[in-house]
Amino acid sequence: MAEKSKKIMFVAVFVPVLVLVCLLLGFVDAQKITDIKAIEAKEKAAVKEWLAYNNMIKQADTLYQGYFYEEAEKLLQNGKYKERDEVKQKIENCKLAQANLVEYNGTVEHVFFHSLIFYPELAFDGDHMAEGYDLWMTTADEFKKMLPQLRDRGYVLYNIEDLIEQDPNDPNKIVRKAIYLPEGKKPLILSVDDVNYYDYMQKDGFAKRLVLDEDGEVATLVKNPEGIEEINRNGDVVPILDDFVKEYPDFSFRGAKGILALTGYAGALGYRITDVSGDDYKALRTKMDPVVAKLKQTGWIFACHSYTHNSYFKNYTITMQQMQDDATRWRDTIGAVVGQTNIYISPFGVSYKNNDPLYRYLVKQKKFNIFCSVAAKASLIKNDDNIIMSRINLDGFSMKNHKEMLKQRFFNVDDVIDVRRPKT
Ligand SMILES: [Zn+2]
Repeated sequence: MAEKSKKIMFVAVFVPVLVLVCLLLGFVDAQKITDIKAIEAKEKAAVKEWLAYNNMIKQADTLYQGYFYEEAEKLLQNGKYKERDEVKQKIENCKLAQANLVEYNGTVEHVFFHSLIFYPELAFDGDHMAEGYDLWMTTADEFKKMLPQLRDRGYVLYNIEDLIEQDPNDPNKIVRKAIYLPEGKKPLILSVDDVNYYDYMQKDGFAKRLVLDEDGEVATLVKNPEGIEEINRNGDVVPILDDFVKEYPDFSFRGAKGILALTGYAGALGYRITDVSGDDYKALRTKMDPVVAKLKQTGWIFACHSYTHNSYFKNYTITMQQMQDDATRWRDTIGAVVGQTNIYISPFGVSYKNNDPLYRYLVKQKKFNIFCSVAAKASLIKNDDNIIMSRINLDGFSMKNHKEMLKQRFFNVDDVIDVRRPKT
């Protein structure tokens, strides 16, 4: 056969066969790959589904533990898993828990703190401030130890704003709003005074200000004894309580945390916004505003603690003009930034009679209808257009002088009190 016809044979017969084989092989391969891909996709979808389901269950459980029963039920009902037995059971539990809430008619306790001492060795260093810190302050360790004891006793953080509501029949009056909790639970209102991080405390082992940490949570900026600044979650009430509630959602009723009582003369939350103006002011607000937003989003509310915290409050020599200037300045400089509030936490715990013109001014003109003073005994007085609630200090003074009373009401002092306190 001529070379040329061999070539033609090769091209005419062998090539088509080769192509056919290749195509077949290719087809089989393609089929195999499609099968594997389908299995993989199925597996992926199953994993995704499993994750979505578990995520929903986890979310519903957290809502349930935090007393958001109707919200948890809604989440479970609206999902595509509502026919599953586990989900049906959880929906039943939500309905039952909601139906089993009982009206609470006992004492409403209100406890308060100042900024916590983070480095006791700096606070109790024997200088002229040490004695005051020992009396009126609480250490971060003590605060941490109080929380599980309060929880064990059935306390649940409660929003003070939910104690009252507008009288439906009279816009100038308020009425008490009923408290519904699971049987055995007790509302606890918590406040922190002077969340300003004053200059005079900077060398004494307190936080410098509230900031956001790398996870976007509210944290404390503290300066350690070596003078190095660090951001941590142990430096004051806010991050400690946030973390505790994250671990034990049943310690907070429907997201309530506490009240941050702010003065104004040194700014607020560690930001000296009332010392500066122009671009400096704007720069501070850029740092402060996200902290304020996060606090609000996580259940914290604000109160006016006067602008000046002047001693004319303590010795009751304050004039009407001074009261007006003080409250107006607070509303204009601090309320305008953190949001206006109807809560007034008096400086030095002073209290007024309901008909005192100074008090009438705060209630009527400045719209503060929840007023908090200080007293060892819990009391809540309801007037026509305001309530007056006493608060008890859980600090060195109380722990050293009212050990038995604290044991009856809140916690066992011996388990809590910081051994680093001065021995007196
Ligand atoms: Zn104060």
